[in-house]
Amino acid sequence: MGSVNKGRGDSPLGEAWLVAVGDELLLGRIADTNSQEIARQLTARGVAVRGVTVVGDEVAAIGRALDATPSGALVILSGGLGPTPDDLTREAVAAWARVPVAESPPIAAFLRQRCAARGVAYGEGTARQAQLPAGLDWLANPVGSAPGLFGELGGRMLLLLPGVPSEMRPLLAEGLARLEAAGLPVARPAVLLRTAQVAESVLAALCDPLRQAAPELTWSWWLVRWGVDVRVSLPPGVVDGGRLAEAAAALRAALGVSVYADAMIDLPAVVQDLLTARAATVATAESCTAGLVSAALTDRAGASDCFLGGVVAYADRLKQDLVDVPAALLAAHGAVSGEVAGAMAAGIRARTGADYGLAVTGIAGPAGGGATKPVGTTWIACDARGHLHVRCYRFPADRGRNRQLAVAAALDTLRRVLRVDDDARAPWAELDTWSRP
Ligand code: ATP
Repeated sequence: MGSVNKGRGDSPLGEAWLVAVGDELLLGRIADTNSQEIARQLTARGVAVRGVTVVGDEVAAIGRALDATPSGALVILSGGLGPTPDDLTREAVAAWARVPVAESPPIAAFLRQRCAARGVAYGEGTARQAQLPAGLDWLANPVGSAPGLFGELGGRMLLLLPGVPSEMRPLLAEGLARLEAAGLPVARPAVLLRTAQVAESVLAALCDPLRQAAPELTWSWWLVRWGVDVRVSLPPGVVDGGRLAEAAAALRAALGVSVYADAMIDLPAVVQDLLTARAATVATAESCTAGLVSAALTDRAGASDCFLGGVVAYADRLKQDLVDVPAALLAAHGAVSGEVAGAMAAGIRARTGADYGLAVTGIAGPAGGGATKPVGTTWIACDARGHLHVRCYRFPADRGRNRQLAVAAALDTLRRVLRVDDDARAPWAELDTWSRP
């Protein structure tokens, strides 16, 4: 690969522009999930995405999108690398950079071998995919035929990826690794802490003194499915004098048990890893979430090592019949109560022989709320090998979000129980202000 541009003129180091190519995107037939995924990956590496453009399968439009990016930029294009005549990204990039396109013998050899292995002819369409704009290098596609292309061209650092998401993903990882190895400073130091059960406003207030102590850092907060993410990064051009590591350590200490991950890992995966590491099992009893906790616990492969199963018990009769909630408890406290949540957790644990029983009962809304138990009131219980932990939440949103929040609270409660060796220890701390009644 040729020399990498590291700061010529107004070169925006650590910044990227994305171009999604495809008529189907403009027709509204599919959503541009590739740019979303690429932006996520770049952000995790500390690269700031400064713009996303969607264009049709048209040479001039692709050229205009490239023209709109600053000199020295990292530009990642997805789509239009396929074998059909409407796949024009290769040709458009070459025309824009005014370089010729020619067959690349190694790509052609790779594609011929792929065709032979599959018993298909090396046709005209496949041959188009062996065309390489002068100045670019290529990446073998482990899933499909279209190679990824990368290199410095037209004063930009380019990475061209196929549109099919399952092909785009591995080539994005490979392409970024190759660009980094070649010296492109795409990784800007950043720290990510993913938190659960702390209200966003409380989190922001907690960060305030740290921000004042290190005003050169950039701080961001995002409300996500499982809680709130905090990201601290060094802006482009700012030299790290150790302040980022200092701020991160102070933040981590202040947040304590609320942090469930410091990388882009989701809460269910963290819980699964903890269960697996402890060779422990869990079973669920769900009312208002109707299986969503079970679904989250089984999102990732390998769930059967630690997830025994679950019961959805909406009706009081099923709470009695399936997880042995005493009728007297239901009559005295109602189905949405700490007593019933605790009995559900204990019942499912006893019935299944799991190490941990996790239960949810609540009022997701919009109907069903009252003066003492308004919509959003939700009880979560975890029976940790005979030690019962029960807590009430009052989620403030609509039905869908309330149920999602209940799943996050249930999973995070289990995570907190699992992260210490003491099943009797209460999983909540003073900082856990999230949706408290
Ligand atoms: P192919 O070999 O399939 O032609 P390609 O690199 O030319 O691959 P496109 O033809 O642009 O890619 O897109 C193929 C399919 O990939 C689309 O029909 C669409 O389903 C999906 N796709 C393309 N671009 C995106 C995008 N930005 N976000 C999500 N999916 C996309």
